[in-house]
Amino acid sequence: MEIADLPVPPDLAAGYIAGGITELYPPQAACVEAGLFSGKNLLVAIPTASGKTLVAEMAMHYQVARGGKCLYIVPLRALASEKFEEFSGKGLRVGIATGDFDRRDEYLGRNDIIVATSEKVDSLLRNRTPWLSEISLLVVDEVHLIDDPSRGATVEMVIAKLRHKNPKMQIIALSATIGNPADLAGWLDAELVESEWRPVDLREGVFFEDGIRFADSVREVGRKSKYEDLDLVLDTVAEGGQCLVFVSSRKNAEAFAKRAASGLKIANPVLAGYADKIRSSASTDMGKTLAACVAQGAAFHHAGLSREERQLVEAGFREGQIKVISSTPTLAAGLNLPARRVIVRDYLRFNAGEGMMPIPVREYRQMAGRAGRPRLDPYGEAVLIAKSEEMVEELFDYYIEATAEDVRSRCADEAVLCTHILSLVATGFARERGEVLGFMDGTFYAHQGESPRALKRAVDRVLEFLREAEMITEVGEWLEATEYGSLVSRLYIDPRSAEVIVNAMTGRKGYTDIGFLHLLCATPDMPTLFVRKNDMYALDRFLADHREELWMEIPWDADEGFDRSLKTALLLADWADEVGEDVICERYSVGPGDVYGMVESVAWLVHASRHLAGLFAPHLAAPIEEMELRTKHGIKKELLPLIRIRGIGRVRARRLFNNGIDSIEALREAGPEKVAKILGQGIAARVFEQLEGTRDEIGGVGEEQSTLSRFG
Ligand code: ADP
Repeated sequence: MEIADLPVPPDLAAGYIAGGITELYPPQAACVEAGLFSGKNLLVAIPTASGKTLVAEMAMHYQVARGGKCLYIVPLRALASEKFEEFSGKGLRVGIATGDFDRRDEYLGRNDIIVATSEKVDSLLRNRTPWLSEISLLVVDEVHLIDDPSRGATVEMVIAKLRHKNPKMQIIALSATIGNPADLAGWLDAELVESEWRPVDLREGVFFEDGIRFADSVREVGRKSKYEDLDLVLDTVAEGGQCLVFVSSRKNAEAFAKRAASGLKIANPVLAGYADKIRSSASTDMGKTLAACVAQGAAFHHAGLSREERQLVEAGFREGQIKVISSTPTLAAGLNLPARRVIVRDYLRFNAGEGMMPIPVREYRQMAGRAGRPRLDPYGEAVLIAKSEEMVEELFDYYIEATAEDVRSRCADEAVLCTHILSLVATGFARERGEVLGFMDGTFYAHQGESPRALKRAVDRVLEFLREAEMITEVGEWLEATEYGSLVSRLYIDPRSAEVIVNAMTGRKGYTDIGFLHLLCATPDMPTLFVRKNDMYALDRFLADHREELWMEIPWDADEGFDRSLKTALLLADWADEVGEDVICERYSVGPGDVYGMVESVAWLVHASRHLAGLFAPHLAAPIEEMELRTKHGIKKELLPLIRIRGIGRVRARRLFNNGIDSIEALREAGPEKVAKILGQGIAARVFEQLEGTRDEIGGVGEEQSTLSRFG
């Protein structure tokens, strides 16, 4: 099927053709035949890199040309910016929504295409954002993540709510290969387009001793070292390819990158340039290790890296300079970095409570699917490593020849239901118990025929909890959200978190930083740090000195959860006390990316607490508001007056303060010349423009400016 014959706007088609895309891939043509341009719902379950995004993009342009508006939902923020960039500059107005959760973002509605995470869409629904009812095409990327234990239910609920709102809307769901695509297609009333076709041949095999065993051949691999994984990398690099190596932990990723670096020993000015950039922004030992690896052509990639580090590694790999990246499996879903050979080195992973478990087939496929760069590699190879002859066959059975797991709904979990049922009531989707159940009937959970009685029981327990918490009231049959309930729904926090916070705040007289941060770290919304044996001494010592500052009782049977929340709170308190990033990373054994993640999570909870305090504990609202700015920017109280100025973050505010400038008045007094000496000409000019402008220009809580972007 030729691009030129498709009913897409001529400019879009011309752009594709100019970029070398003249004909549809077979699965793409199947989408057109299945009704892509006649409003049919589609579930496109085809391998990675077989052109799903292009299918969605054509449909979006087709819709917009007919007056429609499109919403493109992605599972991760990083993917949102990737898609935003991909769709921009092609004649349509494209918007991106990933940020604060209690806004309606009405301006976004002016766009033709809005790219957003599922959490953001859920929050827009809760804030009754008007333009959502204008959506005529919904694209859900990576829809198989409905199965994800922590975020799957949100994806499912968002789809159900949007369908409920816009019954005529077209849905295009994009999925990796899954075991039960017909099931998912049935729920979506969608035509199923399923295919194993790939633009580059994928060979899957198992390495043992000195060769890769494929189904019908063996490829010899020269043994140069005692390490199989390293030899597999050197083999590919020798023939001009690149490798991705998936391992089970960050530590393994770093260790392998070091091994690969000393095996490759490539040295050239481009790599040295990348290494310099990483070194100059690195504040941790991890960053320095990364720079040293990159200088020799190898890198590691995991969630502990800062954004700059990640971007530099990805750019160096895309450019073909970095020859190998070792990565943790969590990145398999997001990373769009194809390579000739993918080595799935560790297929066992530690799961809390279960010990070492084999990774799911679907995850293996996602990793294997990265093998082979279209138009650049003659083929792609995915390689597992066997430790014995018997294992060769086992790995073939378990992964290469296996079908991917079924996708199941995660909706019946009570913790998840609690959040979603409150929002159904608060936004008027459901006004009585029967309507809640009716709505749940439209979920994938109900479609899968899971026990309706269990669901009913779970719904009743949740309604009971929400009533007791006074988040909803029941008048006769009618359910209504209270002021508290609707605030919690809009703030987009777990109702159980709200209860923890409100219970500790009411009746509390004084405010303490650590007590407040610890409280937030004890809520289900906050991810917490792992506690090691040698942390216990520091935690006990802290408790001995500061016990009375905590807002929560120390339970007599304090468990790991308590220790985790305390350790996390201490990290955040350090952050808000301007302890250096390098010291924090060292003290808590984390990377800059982790610090960023935790600060972002807690900043949201602090923000929510400020609103809750407004309702229940007004005397705490002022110190919490200060803490909101302090966590957001990572600053001590004394820098608060300065941080309100745009362009001034953690570092610049500290510099001014140390030069005796501690307030707006002091800035004015110092004058542009002195400030320019401290901050440079450009920044000083911006600062004084604001000072001379109206007072409104100076930001307060809720302003976009944030030191967080330094990490983000
Ligand atoms: P997926 O979303 O399935 O992972 P993408 O849509 O990102 O895959 O496509 C992978 C690559 O293939 C992109 O670089 C895209 O431009 C290219 N591509 C997509 N469709 C075609 C086509 N019909 N012909 C040539 N290249 C294509």
